[in-house]
Amino acid sequence: MPNIIIFGAPGSGKGTQSERIIEKYHLRHISTGELLRDHIARKTELGIVADSYCSRGQLIPDDLMIEILAHTIDNDAEVSKGLILDGFPRTIPQARALKQLLAERGMKIDSVIGLEVPEDELVERLLKRGQESGRSDDNLDTINKRLEVYHNQTLPLRDYYINEGKYCSIHATGSIDEIFDRIAEVIEA
Ligand code: AMP
Repeated sequence: MPNIIIFGAPGSGKGTQSERIIEKYHLRHISTGELLRDHIARKTELGIVADSYCSRGQLIPDDLMIEILAHTIDNDAEVSKGLILDGFPRTIPQARALKQLLAERGMKIDSVIGLEVPEDELVERLLKRGQESGRSDDNLDTINKRLEVYHNQTLPLRDYYINEGKYCSIHATGSIDEIFDRIAEVIEA
């Protein structure tokens, strides 16, 4: 089964589309954002550290994030079924570490599905999600910070994966079903 990264800005629909992908292809879903929010809610040691970054819209330091990911993969007996990585990698050092970490386990990334959404629509979606879900980092100040961090630190990954021949661009506006159909086409190709 394939190992896929679902890539895109905050609000591009990574979580929503991951749910549809898992439903259809039964891949393991690793969302670093969800994992951190779970620790924050349980007020674990990691949660307290993570909260100090997440609440300001900043990224958790690479070393810590890479360690968390390695631990998650090594403690999931079902990763061999294929993976969907959502929210990781978010920096070039994370992408390089991921490549090495997977190679050491006889695995590799097969494709990167890049969800492309215009910036004004991202802000609109995130504000709506903040109202509906109460997610605390979906407020205008933190949204703007997260988008800035995305442009500076995460967007360079697009070129990184284009160079690796793995980046598949998906036009990610329209209905959830329409977007999912475009993704399914890529996965099945
Ligand atoms: P997300 O749910 O993917 O939007 O992630 C929510 C927040 O968790 C981000 O704004 C970051 O603070 C943190 N986070 C999630 N994934 C990562 C990562 N790969 N590297 C650093 N920080 C992350």
